[in-house]
Amino acid sequence: MNRPANLDVLLQPRPPSPLQEIHDERFERHGVRLLLKRDDLIHTTVPWDMDVRGPMDLYPAGNKWRKLSLNLAEAGAQGRRTLVTFGGAYSNHLRATAAAGRLLGFATVGVVRGDELADRPLNPSLARCAADGMRLHFVPRGDYRRKAEPDVLARLLRDARAEDAYVVPEGGSNALAVRGCQELGAELRGLVDVAAVACGTGGTLAGLAAGLGPDQRALGVPVLRGDFLGAEVRALQDAAFGGPRGRWALEGRFHFGGYARTSAELEAFAADFEERHGLRVERVYVAKLLYALVALAAEGAFPRGTRLAAVITGAP
Ligand SMILES: *Cc1c(COP(=O)(O)O)cnc(C)c1O
Repeated sequence: MNRPANLDVLLQPRPPSPLQEIHDERFERHGVRLLLKRDDLIHTTVPWDMDVRGPMDLYPAGNKWRKLSLNLAEAGAQGRRTLVTFGGAYSNHLRATAAAGRLLGFATVGVVRGDELADRPLNPSLARCAADGMRLHFVPRGDYRRKAEPDVLARLLRDARAEDAYVVPEGGSNALAVRGCQELGAELRGLVDVAAVACGTGGTLAGLAAGLGPDQRALGVPVLRGDFLGAEVRALQDAAFGGPRGRWALEGRFHFGGYARTSAELEAFAADFEERHGLRVERVYVAKLLYALVALAAEGAFPRGTRLAAVITGAP
């Protein structure tokens, strides 16, 4: 009755994203087979994006779709008409939420970190959110940082006129998001030995590990500094499944100084990888993941015969 028009497509089964083996001597000389799990191509396998706009620009990050899908179904089941979520000025998650809202018939409100941005022209990422109909609400950084506190959140939602909205947390990571990402692991069952993914909030890793089989393991490469992420992944698995699931580990040496930080070496690595393999390498997450895997292979971290999947979570 009160259901957004396209919501039923969420309930349709979707094909798995492609798994492609590539040949790279930096792995082959150690007896490791490298496979790319192309979640960046999810948009081409989601049927409903075709008739709306060119598929390429809908989902900057395939894992954001996996994280949103059960949340969108839940918002619809609760009869909510509006989604509200949070992000920085370059957040892929804001863009994915805005695009999903437009496609599925939800209004969207984005609470953006930094009220100084309100007076400036929108950057391309926020312009895209606005073009998809997202109402942007800029808030001071201090308020943004405290948005997990119930009274601060209530005030932010009131000011954004989004009190009745379905709240998707920053980065999209909650129990339903983790359950959505379980599918990523399930799609890799029997096909690889190790599945590696770049981590921001850790929600994708938490679900990936849970979906893998008992003879497989997940490896997370944080792109942020700090060692909060292990506790975060455990908390997300607790929330999603009531306890730990699957085998996973973090490899924390490859953040290159923190979120969206880079170096000449990382940039050269990513450009070279693009050249070798004809794959466009997203710089904030995927470049660090691929760099880490090459370094780990050189260190002999993977036994000979390992089938190693790199999850390509997004395109540039
Ligand atoms: C958001 C994002 C991630 C990280 O996902 P988390 O679940 O927050 O760890 C990885 N890759 C890309 C391209 C992303 O946009």
